[in-house]
Amino acid sequence: MSATPPFRIGLGYDIHPLVAGRPCILGGVHIPSEVGPDGHSDADVLLHAAADAVLGAAGLRDIGHYFPNTDPSLKGMDSAVILARAVQEAGRAGWKIGNLDLVLIGERPKVMAHVEAMKASVAKIAGIQPNQVGIKATTNEGMDSIGQGKALAVQAVCLVFAL
Ligand code: MG
Repeated sequence: MSATPPFRIGLGYDIHPLVAGRPCILGGVHIPSEVGPDGHSDADVLLHAAADAVLGAAGLRDIGHYFPNTDPSLKGMDSAVILARAVQEAGRAGWKIGNLDLVLIGERPKVMAHVEAMKASVAKIAGIQPNQVGIKATTNEGMDSIGQGKALAVQAVCLVFAL
């Protein structure tokens, strides 16, 4: 049997529609905005993608397995619970977080002024240091539903290493 390396990577992706009258919480940080991601939980698309990257790296099931969006008790829930649970499950499987790198894709809201706050928040939730979290923002240049400001998407990667 060949040895496997003491580290793994995971990929996460999420997208939520942007609607008026919803708070905009990204990475656990409240961003002033006229629109916010719609969803069953607080719809923190950044934390959802991050959680799936962590779970994927550890070879576990996705966040819908741990937090089904059909569960009425989870309505409006703080997505920090989701990422913290993913990190806990990865730890239980023998994996520690090396880093998280996240790309926010959307036309609105403008998030650059909040990147450091989001990095600190994601790091705190994941039990790592802010320098282990990358957050970048880009737009879809006016194309498709994201480009027209109707949705916010996030791509995430996570490296985990053996405890
Ligand atoms: Mg989601």
